[in-house]
Amino acid sequence: MRALPLLCRAALLAAALPLHAAPAHQHGVAALNVAVEDDRLHVTLEAPLDSLVGFEHPARTPAEQHAVRDAAARLRDAATLFVTPAAARCRLESVRLASPAASPALLGETAATSAATPHAHAEAAGHADLDGEFHFRCAAPAALRGLEVNLFAAFPRLRTLDVQVAAGEHQRGARLTPAGRRLVW
Ligand SMILES: [Zn+2]
Repeated sequence: MRALPLLCRAALLAAALPLHAAPAHQHGVAALNVAVEDDRLHVTLEAPLDSLVGFEHPARTPAEQHAVRDAAARLRDAATLFVTPAAARCRLESVRLASPAASPALLGETAATSAATPHAHAEAAGHADLDGEFHFRCAAPAALRGLEVNLFAAFPRLRTLDVQVAAGEHQRGARLTPAGRRLVW
């Protein structure tokens, strides 16, 4: 019984550690964070690899490697996945991809960029995520009042996006689905 208060304290500390709660790894569900700061738009995606390529083990066969390269290429075409209002005149500046189940080379990271890739952590029991960071800069950020998210068309295994938006004083959560894929703030 003496150990109980210590265990409780450890559990509380563990629960308090993440700055924003990481979602449980659930196939079909990904987390999206959208942050607008001055003329910059930062989007981060944390998705089960299964929802992007249909498996979560390291790509071994040529077909599996092709699937990872193809998913990475679609993610790097981020201006078509995250469509900003034309009036905001946003330009995609950089994309970083990382996964414990795919090498940086397979994801299209160069040696220079892979040092700055998002922290990718392995999930328990053979599961793996793919993390992406997408940076845009907008010439008319006042017009940046929303975003159309086209991840569902690019990755049909993805069914739900849990979204956090931080834009100026606006902070809100949202849930996007194939039927409702527009964010407004
Ligand atoms: Zn999984």
